[in-house]
Amino acid sequence: MAALPSAGSSARVTGLRVRAVHLEVKQALETASGSFSTWPVVLLDVQTDAGVTGHAFLGCFLPMVLKPMVSILNDLSPLVAGESLSPTAIDRKLRARMRLIGVHGFLASAIAMVEIAAWDALGKATGQPVVRLLGGAPKSYPMYKTVVAMDPGKAAELARQAIDAGYGGLKLKLGAPTLRADMALITSVRKAAGDDFPLMGDFNQVLSVPEAAERISVIDGEGLVWLEEPVAARNYAGCAQLARTALTPIQIGENWLSLEDAADSLAAQASDYVMPDLVKIGGASAWLKAATLAEAQGVPVSAHSFPETCSHLMPATGNGHWLEHVGMADAVFRQPIRPTDGRYQCSEAPGFGMEWDEDTIGRFLVS
Ligand SMILES: [Mg+2]
Repeated sequence: MAALPSAGSSARVTGLRVRAVHLEVKQALETASGSFSTWPVVLLDVQTDAGVTGHAFLGCFLPMVLKPMVSILNDLSPLVAGESLSPTAIDRKLRARMRLIGVHGFLASAIAMVEIAAWDALGKATGQPVVRLLGGAPKSYPMYKTVVAMDPGKAAELARQAIDAGYGGLKLKLGAPTLRADMALITSVRKAAGDDFPLMGDFNQVLSVPEAAERISVIDGEGLVWLEEPVAARNYAGCAQLARTALTPIQIGENWLSLEDAADSLAAQASDYVMPDLVKIGGASAWLKAATLAEAQGVPVSAHSFPETCSHLMPATGNGHWLEHVGMADAVFRQPIRPTDGRYQCSEAPGFGMEWDEDTIGRFLVS
């Protein structure tokens, strides 16, 4: 991993601007752990005295999450106002201030968002894409589209649209009540995508270890790229048991909530592949550190969602694997991420290259 810069330009943070939108979506996000028919998103701007603003966002799954997230972020604003625009120093300061209450849950997500937006602002203040600040250079990675419908017919239709749009793979939401239903979904999408098209599967943690072992023994014949979160995310021993016996690589990591989780999971050899979540792991620096822990064990690292940001982080690692695009929050961006020939490469635009679509934001603004 490239050395992380310890300080930025001479710019200072002047405060945080926090907004919440509740987006309508064409297709609900269906998972084995519940369906989500609207998409609530928190938008954060780190404002600076350099005339640039850094952005970060978080899809909150449930509208009830917007209010506490907005409240916490607004309360963090006075703690960062006047600070030098150093993502690392700001992150350390906030974590130190919260040490006694503990950096968990929404508070942890809020601090991670501030760190991410600070990186974006630093890139803009210095005229560099974040990938360059990290010592990397733009590089393309294969990018898959997550197929958010669990109905086999609807999923095949979304799969065809994603292939036409140029995605390099498709991730299916598995973990239906029966193996037969999971197989019907895989068969339907396989027929639409063709024999050699990369397909992943995600159980979203709903199976017990014996159920997962039985289901995976059948799905193993389908040649999927990986099977994600077959059992409870923190059951590293159970994941390791499955990883040892499954033919299909096991993928986990999106529910690592700290570097300690990453270290524990890797030490337990809980999975063949890992995919830390940018916000849950604690921000951009934490994502890179988790990726580095994985690199030391020869474990490929993928991004869990957030392709806008992670496409800048991956080139700073030696073990970058796949980018994921779900796209539920696409409407808030002026130029949503799109693949080219199955892949995506970050641009040379300063920061993370994200620009808000203020018209859409104005239309769906709730606070
Ligand atoms: Mg997943």
